[in-house]
Amino acid sequence: MIGPDRDDDWWPRMVMVKVLAQYHDATADPRVIAVLTRYFHYQLAALPTRPLHTWGKYRWQDEVLFVEWLYERTGDVSLLHLADLLERQGYDWISGFASFKYTGVTSRARLEAAAIRGDKSEAMETHGVNNGQALKTAAVRYRLSGDAANERARFRRQMETLDRFHGMPNGMFSCDEHLAGLDPSHGTELCTVVETLYSLEVALSTFGDVAIGDRIEKIAFNALPGAFDDDMWAHQYDQQANQILVGLNSKPWTTNGPESNLYGLEPNFGCCTANFHQGWPKFTSNLWMRSPDGGLVATLYSPCEIETTVGDHKISLRVETEYPFKEDVRIILSPETSVRFPLRLRIPAWAQAATIRINGQPTPIDTTPETFALIDRLWIQGDVVDLHLPMVPSVSRWYNNSLALMRGPLVFSLDSGQSWVKLRDRGLTADWQVYPRKFWNYALLVDEHSATQVEVVEHAVGMKPFAATMAPVKLRVRARRIDTWRSEDGVAAPIPNGLQTTDLPDEMLELIPYAAAKLRITAFPQLGEMSAVRATNE
Ligand SMILES: [Zn+2]
Repeated sequence: MIGPDRDDDWWPRMVMVKVLAQYHDATADPRVIAVLTRYFHYQLAALPTRPLHTWGKYRWQDEVLFVEWLYERTGDVSLLHLADLLERQGYDWISGFASFKYTGVTSRARLEAAAIRGDKSEAMETHGVNNGQALKTAAVRYRLSGDAANERARFRRQMETLDRFHGMPNGMFSCDEHLAGLDPSHGTELCTVVETLYSLEVALSTFGDVAIGDRIEKIAFNALPGAFDDDMWAHQYDQQANQILVGLNSKPWTTNGPESNLYGLEPNFGCCTANFHQGWPKFTSNLWMRSPDGGLVATLYSPCEIETTVGDHKISLRVETEYPFKEDVRIILSPETSVRFPLRLRIPAWAQAATIRINGQPTPIDTTPETFALIDRLWIQGDVVDLHLPMVPSVSRWYNNSLALMRGPLVFSLDSGQSWVKLRDRGLTADWQVYPRKFWNYALLVDEHSATQVEVVEHAVGMKPFAATMAPVKLRVRARRIDTWRSEDGVAAPIPNGLQTTDLPDEMLELIPYAAAKLRITAFPQLGEMSAVRATNE
């Protein structure tokens, strides 16, 4: 056994197993292999009489991932028996999503009534973090079974089901802290953001689907920084895609408390404080991967430096870019000696007519969206690959036919001003409420066809790229206020459905990146053409 002897819960040990394996990835400390081998043998013997329960039962796949990790290093066949036993004692996420029951807002009253009966199944199956962690289940199973086609289909069904019934325009699903439907006034817990990212990174490395990389960037560049203040000293438990007030109102949360969307040290509960720091490091460690043919793959884009090997050759790489704000990614290769290997670059689904230059020369390399572009050549010291990913504004549809705007991997929001009011000091940091300074209730005059014409304004990328005061890219959109769209107890009322009309004047709004707008509207009603024409005639 590892850990304190005052409780015998398997779940906190699953976290420790992950910590130890990642510590070994960083340090190669041989004690990790020894302790995990002995612990897993102990658990294999103990599980039949002391089975998984509560959190461990719903998060078993997070341990199996590291049982596989150890098997890949030691070949100890008993580990395969442990993986099998953990899955058989754990909750069957695959069947749960094959006949999905949770298609609306989870009822707090129903969960409380079930808890009195001692039944936690609905609370666990609708729990946001559980669902985020469970998105690696099919990938973990595929690593054991080799059944790529079926497990990929199961992963996609899980994603599509969460999107269909609980999807948010920031790339996440609602969970405050249980699945909460499609209204963007509902919240998403920060732990779920980082656990979903981690699951998707496992799924990307396993299935190799470009779409998974696109989703990782959407979450990492929007929902993740959207839950922090500009210096990361305060974070939210629940963020909202439409967040008109950060305060102490009762809010629409399924089970969370009234402080859940404050920015602070540990609003609502300390779990996110202990968890949110895994977001950026795990994202960073998945920027590059190795392909089965011995090549290197740029899976996600951010500035970085890589020291690795291809075959017996040492190679270092440097990525210079202001992505996701700008369209260009430069990769500078420095192999110790000239070496031939395949280099693959992810071409996102949104990137039409991407181009690749090598040492300044245009190339005919296939850059079809949602593929990996392949460059197979002899690489020499100082080779430069320039990838250009055109970012054109686009519109997608959400709750009540609302509109959300994206450009490249960034989601854009209306910032309704930020008046920060300290609620209480918390040692080195503080808990904050945020009040709006401007109107938020606008409808946009834009649709799927006209979105490409939306004006893009670019500025230099500063030291705090996700700060509202120095937003490096903005979208200018025509809009009008809809004064019948009001707030109810600190949240925006349901988005008015259908084409909106109003006699209020045209305004030109500047939308900024989602994460920069700490008070924001992201899903907007649509302004009808007729009202605009009538106003022009008047
Ligand atoms: Zn949390």
